[in-house]
Amino acid sequence: MTDLDDSSLQPPPPASRRTAGDSWAITELVGATALGVAAARAAETGGPDPLIRDDFAVKLVSAAGAAWARLADPGLNWLDGDEQGQRAHRLGIDYQAVRTHFFDGYFSEAVGAGLRQVVILAAGLDSRAYRLDWPAGTTVYEVDQPKVLEYKTGILESHGAVPSATRRTVAVDLRDDWPAALTAAGFDRSQPTAWLAEGLLPYLPSDAQDRLFEKFTALSVPGSRVAIEVFGANSSSNTHRWQRMRERLGLDVNVQALTFHEPDRSDAAEWLADHGWQVTLVDNREEMARLGRPVPDDLTDDAVRTILLRARLGD
Ligand code: SAM
Repeated sequence: MTDLDDSSLQPPPPASRRTAGDSWAITELVGATALGVAAARAAETGGPDPLIRDDFAVKLVSAAGAAWARLADPGLNWLDGDEQGQRAHRLGIDYQAVRTHFFDGYFSEAVGAGLRQVVILAAGLDSRAYRLDWPAGTTVYEVDQPKVLEYKTGILESHGAVPSATRRTVAVDLRDDWPAALTAAGFDRSQPTAWLAEGLLPYLPSDAQDRLFEKFTALSVPGSRVAIEVFGANSSSNTHRWQRMRERLGLDVNVQALTFHEPDRSDAAEWLADHGWQVTLVDNREEMARLGRPVPDDLTDDAVRTILLRARLGD
């Protein structure tokens, strides 16, 4: 039996670790998922022929401790002796690189079209406010939980990093009244906005997802744009990924127990189309193939399934 045949050996999904109003520091609960995806960006950046560059990621991840620093290793030495595990983990890094590339391109187009107001929902350790080439006059709002933003700001300041746009942090839970917090931080609702929700939706209950869509739509004037990572039902790859991290690195982060598995979740593309947004989307596997990072045939069950979506609000 190969590593890929072991789905029958998987334990049932673990009990949810989420509670209403829960909060976290960077190494706790959903906070740790921000470290996980930043570690993938760090590994991609440090490897040969990177698709994207995020030179801040390795600093942000390493500061969380030695095990996290090992996860950011481009050589995947923490998986020594587990060739199949290395291939599967590499596939996860390829996907993270492709999604980062997609949303970097989205912002490049948005500012090319003249937008100067950007809101990154669930920003985590996203360093775009520092690493992208923003036109003068651009303001980037980063919304996330207070301790996550404090951690990021503190580490980047300690490295002397300077944002390449006006950066405003909005420390609030996205299940709460985040539009009020965003407005208090200076958000201008008369200006078109480029919104991003990357790596967020599964961590919100489905009713909170609907409210999120309603709120950013209400805050958007025509010409605004939004980009969203929409997750499919399959998540076995995540289970394997986090199992390896626990066994090899002692990092106890189980995405299955942190996400909301709700069959009645609104279809993001349909919701947006029904509310005046013009939607274009691509299947993640097509985008991976297009960018030279195809999913190998023997790893299709391991690969995450997502839709990468962009939309524009019409007049
Ligand atoms: N978007 C970032 C990226 O792609 O690097 C981070 C993605 S990380 C997988 C998930 C992020 O969502 C974490 O930073 C977490 O704190 C944030 N998050 C999840 N639920 C949230 C909520 N209810 N309120 C605020 N932030 C939330």
